[in-house]
This record gives sequence, structure tokens and C-alpha cells, in this order.
Amino acid sequence: MPGATRVGTRAPVVDHGPRTGDKVALTFDADMTDGMLASLRAGRVKSYANLRILDLLERERVPATFFLTGKWVQRYPDVTRRIAGNPRFELANHTYGHAAFTADCYDLPRLPVDELAGDVAKTFTVIEPYGGRQTRYFRFPGLCHDPAALDALAPLGVTVVDGDVVSGDPFATAWKPLVRAVLDKVRPGSVVIMHVTEANAAMTDEALPHILAGLRERNLVPAPLSEVLAAD
Ligand SMILES: [Zn+2]
Repeated sequence: MPGATRVGTRAPVVDHGPRTGDKVALTFDADMTDGMLASLRAGRVKSYANLRILDLLERERVPATFFLTGKWVQRYPDVTRRIAGNPRFELANHTYGHAAFTADCYDLPRLPVDELAGDVAKTFTVIEPYGGRQTRYFRFPGLCHDPAALDALAPLGVTVVDGDVVSGDPFATAWKPLVRAVLDKVRPGSVVIMHVTEANAAMTDEALPHILAGLRERNLVPAPLSEVLAAD
């Protein structure tokens, strides 16, 4: 399975693939915290699932990889089925409830590092029944990790995926800066980090067509993460 590594050794970290060729990975994180669930229940927020992103990727037949939290999957089972049903989409793990396992990780809720392996394993058990293109890729919330956290993942045999192109889409109020942030940095082998969380990343679907056009101009081709990271 893509991303599977030897169980019992510190999880490796990658942030891009080979700088040869023309492939880039578009990755979309699906965050979900208890606070976000409370906002949905209270009606303060309409949706944390940006279906316009899926519409566009499907219409244009663009491959993508989704880093899913367990709580997002449980809140959006139909959207998860839609992602898993697309042969161009890969599914990856982004913790159960988007907690941090290190100190000073933005203002994310913190859990002790000895709960990390259980949290990530539980998330796989939530995601795996959906089938499709499952992987052993894992992304830390906020990309926050330290040696203790990487050691704690050793029993799971995963690959930790950061990324080399941060779109900056969380809480964005305009789409043009996202397009510029991505197109200024993207290169062959890049892993672009975006979010599919709608209310917390409201400009991503507006930026995406311009990002795709910019990639075409640069002769860069979106591909599933496993194909971007594969050694050439
Ligand atoms: Zn996240």
C-alpha cells in the first residue's frame, strides 16, 4: 500500500517527490475538531465540506489526495464515499480530531504523545471501510511534529507527509494570494497543501481553477500523491 513503511522504526517524513518529471500532488486536508462540530450543531457554520472543490476536480478529471480526520469522515460519510469512489483520488490520514501532539502548535487542542498511535490507528479504522485508493500516508495537524511524535508512529508503518507548497488557504479572505502562493513555489515533485473545509477555507474553490490553469502553463501535471512521491 502506498506510504507503508517498516513497522517498528521511526516514521519517515517527506515533503516532496523527485524534482524531475512533471508531476505535482494537490492535497486537501479535511480538518474537524470538537469546536468545529459544535459550530455546525449551533448553526454558526453551514459546512466544512467544500463540494465545489470536488465538483471541479471531478469535472476536470484532476487527481488529488485527501487527508481526512476521523471526525470529518463521520460527519460527512456521503462526501467520503464520493472521494473513495473516484479512481483519481487517494485517501490519507490526518488524525481523529485534529489535535496537536507537540507543544506550541497554533491553537490546536493538545493530546499527549502517547495517545498518538492509538489516535491515528483509530482514524485508519474509520477511513478504511470506504475502500478506494487507501494509503498509509499521514499528515500532522499544523504539520507539527518532533522526534518523539515520529517515534510514537513507529508501530503503524506510515509515512509522514508535510508538503513544500503551503497555499495559506485557512481563513483566507481573498483568492488571489492563494494562487500566487502556490504558483510562486510549485515545482516538479511539489506537494501542495490546501483544505477542503469550506467555512474555514472559503477561498480555495475560487482559487483552484486559476491554480490549475497556472500549472498547465508551467507544464506541471497533477497526480496522486503516491505517483508524485514514487522514486523515478
Ligand atoms: Zn489540518
